[in-house]
Amino acid sequence: MATKNKSALHEKDGVSQPETTSKSSAQKIKISRSKQPSIDKFVSEILKGDITFLSRAITLVESTNTKHQEKATEILERCLPYANNSVRIGITGVPGVGKSTFIESFGKHLTAQGKKIAVLAIDPSSSVNKGSILGDKTRMEELVTDANAFIRPSPSGTSLGGVAQKTRESIILCEAAGFDTIIIETVGVGQSETAVHSMVDFFLLLKIAGAGDELQGIKRGIIEMADAIVINKADGDNIQNAKIAKTEFNRALHLYPPKESTWQPKVLTCSAIEHNGISEIDGLINEYFHLTNENSYFTKRRNEQNIYWLKATIEQQLKDNFYNNIEVKKQLALELKKLDKGNTTPFNAAKRLLGLKT
Ligand code: GDP
Repeated sequence: MATKNKSALHEKDGVSQPETTSKSSAQKIKISRSKQPSIDKFVSEILKGDITFLSRAITLVESTNTKHQEKATEILERCLPYANNSVRIGITGVPGVGKSTFIESFGKHLTAQGKKIAVLAIDPSSSVNKGSILGDKTRMEELVTDANAFIRPSPSGTSLGGVAQKTRESIILCEAAGFDTIIIETVGVGQSETAVHSMVDFFLLLKIAGAGDELQGIKRGIIEMADAIVINKADGDNIQNAKIAKTEFNRALHLYPPKESTWQPKVLTCSAIEHNGISEIDGLINEYFHLTNENSYFTKRRNEQNIYWLKATIEQQLKDNFYNNIEVKKQLALELKKLDKGNTTPFNAAKRLLGLKT
């Protein structure tokens, strides 16, 4: 038997993240130095599907500048009536599993059908170690130049909540710009899968076949969230292993209680590099959307997600307002000193801080 292609099966570390990946983003930087167009202009150009304006609006969404944020909020409100007409697909998997290769292959398959796809990412690690996904310029080379595809790297931010909120707002802008399929990519760090799951309709877990210990090292919650598990790199000498992994995952999936959607999650194999199994995955996802439209779960879940995000945004805002308050900052420093000397308890200190008239 020939030796396995070790490099293909290797799950690699992250690569560094440059600021932009697409030509339109480069253009965006040039333009953002010039005068800002009006909100009307932004909205009308986004609705026409103008990628440059879409990119610039996302930059406003991601900005920490208050004026930019106010503008972004208005643009979002105005775009909202034109959003929602899409399917949102989340894709997760450890680095090296083949996410970008898969998204490129899957994305090309969709654009060949005349679909317009936007690829966004959530990578909270990007703010800490310069990121690992959607950063490498060589990633998704073909998709980057596809007129029907829009690719945007992960926003940076200090908290997962903040990063996720920006991505969620970017989804609205992409939908208003006419993108009918939104792919949200994430790497399995922290709680990023949960964040992605809370903003997509369909959640796909990408895996590769290992040495028969497929289920080890996977966070339990992730399998529970998955609507499909796809074993990638089912090519060459690895086809047999992929089949074994498929059986094992199928068995594992049956251990979970039925989903509210009534959908029975499935396991498929594919080779992103050889474009094998991609149309089957597309077919499976369509089956899911057919079912959840018929039984109204699709709309129910989107409504639940809206409520979740409303609450999450309020919580985030309250926290930010609290910690950014000058009086709180001053008193917090004093309370921390008292705490350090053993002159108070965390609970009493918190009570006093929360009781401040801010
Ligand atoms: P990501 O980090 O999850 O985005 O993974 P990449 O898409 O960058 O892929 C990691 C490595 O696996 C690259 O060397 C790819 O060429 C390789 N790879 C991706 N998909 C396949 C596949 O279907 N078959 C094989 N043999 N290699 C693949």
